[in-house]
Amino acid sequence: METNRRQFIRAGLAGGVAATTLPLSTYGSQARNSGSAAALNPKYPKLDEILKQPVLKKELFAAPVIIETLELLRFDGNFLCRVRSTDGAEGLSVGHGGLSSLYPIFVKRLQPFFIGKDARDLDLLLEKVYIYSLNFRLSGMALGIPLATIEFAILDMLGRIANKSMGQLIGDIHHRRVPVYQATEYREKPVEESLELIKRAVAENNAHALKIKVGALMFMTEDIHAVGPKGRTETIIPLIRETFGDDIALYADANGFYSVEEAIRVGRLLEKYRYRFFEEPVLFDWYEETKQVADALAIPVAGGEQEYSLHGFRWLIANDGLEIVQPDNYYFGGMVRSMKVARMADAFGKACTPHMSGGGLGYLYMMHFVSALPNACAHHEFKGFRTNVQFECKTSALSVVDGMVKVPTGPGLGVDIDPDYVKKHQPVKA
Ligand SMILES: [Mg+2]
Repeated sequence: METNRRQFIRAGLAGGVAATTLPLSTYGSQARNSGSAAALNPKYPKLDEILKQPVLKKELFAAPVIIETLELLRFDGNFLCRVRSTDGAEGLSVGHGGLSSLYPIFVKRLQPFFIGKDARDLDLLLEKVYIYSLNFRLSGMALGIPLATIEFAILDMLGRIANKSMGQLIGDIHHRRVPVYQATEYREKPVEESLELIKRAVAENNAHALKIKVGALMFMTEDIHAVGPKGRTETIIPLIRETFGDDIALYADANGFYSVEEAIRVGRLLEKYRYRFFEEPVLFDWYEETKQVADALAIPVAGGEQEYSLHGFRWLIANDGLEIVQPDNYYFGGMVRSMKVARMADAFGKACTPHMSGGGLGYLYMMHFVSALPNACAHHEFKGFRTNVQFECKTSALSVVDGMVKVPTGPGLGVDIDPDYVKKHQPVKA
């Protein structure tokens, strides 16, 4: 193990090009190959086997798909990614707003890695890119957002080549329509004002399910505990149930605000009013404390939007810290990595619902991902259809009908971004 680690560091210091020649399994392989994994936790061998399984259906492509260009394009604060193959295939993705600060990582530390690579090796590339230029040190949104933007463009291109939707490239289609819950904020507002805003959001999107915020904003300091009207949580949990009745599905998110003791107290209140999950009851990286809360409560504990490590999810799943995993398709670096998390959860009867971010067309990426989930939650995060992106979708009205949105069925992303809108964008240079 020590030798491997030394080789790993030496290769990294030698520069990105050398690092890309490392074998696939360098990153995290020690634990996967170690006979001691089962001794650490009897669930680990099964989870490690899942992590080794490829996600992209490479068999759909007979010939190599060599990436010739990969561009980040910008117009008026919005980003697009365009990938082209040597054979003239093209894919587009819509970037996350976070690229306004993260674009240098895209152009300096990711773009050069992908040029000349065979897109069919996407699983492998998504492991190696963490080693290239020691990118793993940027783990989290810093790496995940630009990486996911690239992956989505590659999947769009591959989908257009194979005439398959993104969901069909990463799994079998389990859901042609995605049931959504209305995500709401307003934790800093008084109860009455919150309630009016929540009612408006539910009505606007015809939602059959709703998530509210509980607690105040995270975290860690004493004085911030005073943020938000006092007693709001204890009032709003029953009030929302009384207001919307028994039929609506309710969820709650604490964004890591509570101590273990407080989380258990609030969790019991959520149970009393039949909420369906309790998201991030304590700080996201307090794994053992998350497990303490989960062990004490009947309501499923959900989390994962801040998690950046496959191995982190492996612990949370194997140790029953989470009952519901919520990788963010952008923050976590794309759908392939997120699908590995979903598959690990599925192996032990746990559900997956991606955290949704991204403004642009984030909800579309969420829907394609969910379409291929065998263990999808009953409802998925939705924040509305508003976007600056000009596009056409021929296969879905992209509206909420009976609490659900139809997943586009065309190839790739299933929508056509207006070519005139694309032309307005300029390439972002290193
Ligand atoms: Mg959340």
